[in-house]
Amino acid sequence: MQGLMMKTQLMISSILRHAERNFPTREIVSVTADNPRHRYTYKDFAKRTRQLANALESMGVEFGDRIGTLAWNDYRHLELYYGISGTGMVCHMINPKLFPEQVNYIINHAEDKILFVDVLVMPLVESLQSHLKSVEKIVVLTDKDHMPQTTLDNVICYEDLLAQFDDNYQWPEFDENSAAGMCYTSGTTGNPKGVVYSHRSTILHAYAGSLPDTTNASCKSVTMPIVPMFHVNAWGIPYAGVMVGSKLVMPGPKMADGETLQSLIENEGVTLSSGVPTIWMALLEYLDKTGKKVPTLSAVTSGGAACPRGIIERFKNDYQTEVKQGWGMTEMSPLGTVFTLSPGMENLTDEEDTELRLKQGKSVFGVEMKIVDEENNELPWDGVAFGALKVKGPWIATGYYGMSQTPGDADCPVDTDGWMNTGDVATIDPQGYLQITDRTKDVIKSGGEWISSIDIENAAASHPQIAEAAAIGRYHPKWTERPLLVVVLAENAELSRDDVIEYLKDRMHKWSLPEDVVFAKELPHTATGKLNKLALRDTFKDYEFPSK
Ligand code: ADP
Repeated sequence: MQGLMMKTQLMISSILRHAERNFPTREIVSVTADNPRHRYTYKDFAKRTRQLANALESMGVEFGDRIGTLAWNDYRHLELYYGISGTGMVCHMINPKLFPEQVNYIINHAEDKILFVDVLVMPLVESLQSHLKSVEKIVVLTDKDHMPQTTLDNVICYEDLLAQFDDNYQWPEFDENSAAGMCYTSGTTGNPKGVVYSHRSTILHAYAGSLPDTTNASCKSVTMPIVPMFHVNAWGIPYAGVMVGSKLVMPGPKMADGETLQSLIENEGVTLSSGVPTIWMALLEYLDKTGKKVPTLSAVTSGGAACPRGIIERFKNDYQTEVKQGWGMTEMSPLGTVFTLSPGMENLTDEEDTELRLKQGKSVFGVEMKIVDEENNELPWDGVAFGALKVKGPWIATGYYGMSQTPGDADCPVDTDGWMNTGDVATIDPQGYLQITDRTKDVIKSGGEWISSIDIENAAASHPQIAEAAAIGRYHPKWTERPLLVVVLAENAELSRDDVIEYLKDRMHKWSLPEDVVFAKELPHTATGKLNKLALRDTFKDYEFPSK
């Protein structure tokens, strides 16, 4: 027997229609290269997005074609999110901070037909011009007065394009499983890989992203996504925020600028925000330096990398802002887990509360997770056993664009058991709190034991004279691998190898102490700011531990 319910397709355009009808006067405030404070309403947003839809249909593109965006967080990029997907094309968000050869690879691999480019990213596109095989037109995201001189062919100004079309447009309904968006992974191992989101996955993810124990976003919230819109859909906020009618505050190219962030928070009354730990460091540094405050900011979500204790404590103690850690991946749209206090935890001590927030939170409904040992046997949720973390759910990738979708194949992230391998190693405690202990490829296999490189790094980084630390496994004749710790000292610091080991002795098990410590001026990072362990392992490929 079938349920007797309508089979209405879950369409991204329906979010826009709902927002226009129900929150017509809610504002979207943006910083752009041509305007430090642009503001308009959801009604204006919906109208211009329909003009964009007409413009796109006039440009000779077809259903399913990929349209690239190289842009920051602002209202024009938001119009592209909805206009491109709403007409049945695929909004391919490209990270302009990747290495130029990666951007080039990504555009050619996705076969983008049109590129919508922020003025600030034009030099990058100009440098790639002769290599871009599929691109037929470039639209510069600005008005006539701010159009830059360019060496590119087939260039048009966004505002001129929109002005040619009226807003009479009916959003089409089509199969909800059609591709809507596309993001490439940052490619720390080999070429970046394309993750393709559908209308259905995006809508379900948006529902989940606004639940009370996720972000609790509503029409009363003022939400500022600091995580870039080219980075896994700004964690879904451009969809969830519009769905619930939040006022949106978009910091444009000023995402790492503490002064702009503080002024937006204060002047626009921002209540919720999301970003990676480095953004929070920049904001906290600015606040500490100037004595300015963020009184409206009730909670921030920190994700993308482990959140250092200092961020959680400084926000809580100095600014009364709650830090909720979230974990996810490009392949997961990205939401996997988010921190929330469980009932009965109201009376935790400050220290217990911080300890819990250092974990990555609980799975959001829709994401199932499990940890397994090397034979794929499921491990208990006891907070101690750690193993490879696997996930499944309706907004998790089945494979990469142009690569195998067959579970178990080498280039498919899904195993034969139907679960996606996250590449993370984790524990899960009896209450369901996940703790990422490492990446599978970074975990150090010493004898029969797995040593978490992140645990060593966190312990070392808590030393006031250590600016940054990275632990990698190196060959050891007796134990197969042992940890080598690479340390960058803070300015004017003087520490020896033995000082570092001595400091770590109180903070970790004897067997997981680094076998040796070496000092470096700096550590390699990926384009998204994460430690590049691949490069580091390469630097130390010939390293041998001193014999004792
Ligand atoms: P990015 O776009 O940030 O590079 P990726 O999808 O490449 O995103 O990276 C996802 C990985 O980032 C996860 O598999 C995990 O290793 C790491 N990660 C994400 N959030 C967290 C977190 N809160 N704590 C620790 N690691 C995290």
